[in-house]
Amino acid sequence: MSSKFSSIKSKKFGDNHNPSPLVPKLLNVCCTHGNERVGCFIHDNYSTGKNDNFEWESIIANPEAMYLNKRYIQQDLNRVFLGKADGNYEERLAYQISQILPNYDLVLDWHQSITDISDTIFVKKLTPNLKQVCQYFDIAHIVELDNGQGGYQGTLISQVENGIALEYGNLHDHQDACRRVQRSLSGVLNKRRFRKVQNVYRMLDQSISLEFSKILKLKDFQGLSRDAMEILGIYDLNIYPVFVGGYKEEGIYCKLVQKIGRV
Ligand SMILES: [Zn+2]
Repeated sequence: MSSKFSSIKSKKFGDNHNPSPLVPKLLNVCCTHGNERVGCFIHDNYSTGKNDNFEWESIIANPEAMYLNKRYIQQDLNRVFLGKADGNYEERLAYQISQILPNYDLVLDWHQSITDISDTIFVKKLTPNLKQVCQYFDIAHIVELDNGQGGYQGTLISQVENGIALEYGNLHDHQDACRRVQRSLSGVLNKRRFRKVQNVYRMLDQSISLEFSKILKLKDFQGLSRDAMEILGIYDLNIYPVFVGGYKEEGIYCKLVQKIGRV
């Protein structure tokens, strides 16, 4: 899977004088969660295409959920990979999608959050290949999931070597989310670096219980105040809340990440 992808590594930016006829294949996975409508925007505007850098295709991962504007039908598709040939609706979808993933050199899984989270890049592990691709996104936060436990197993990007999941904040500000998606996807397809400092975090297997929402006002990627540290018993300046308010039904106020560097 990495052979064609590694070949673009040696190609210089803007060096389009000798375009290779064989360019890496990029797959946009849209509406893995059916109610995250940036997926529809990408599918409508980037269904298939080719330039000197990539040949791309887009799929609607969960068509039934997208049609009904629901997150999923029977089970969260982004937790059931590799799926089952004879499983429930989402398990069958995961199985079918898993069959085609090896045909691509780069897989982008597009999501949209109901929380106020800043736009965030998620990777299983920030490999040199992925670090290069991340520079084309106008996004300041990169979270590695590899050190997270249980809850993030079964995600689509856990199944591919070169996989990136994008989380765009503010579902209610859909138009602006679409503009930001377009800017970043155009950055990737044209290999345009944003030269933005990107902070790298790892997802922790730790979350803050919902009861703390009554006494603390936490914000995504904003450091804990001294008071919050005392209350939570967390004395690490590199620990930040994420997905604040996004997991209420599970009794969780927010998840936690730990900053491990910057690129
Ligand atoms: Zn999602």
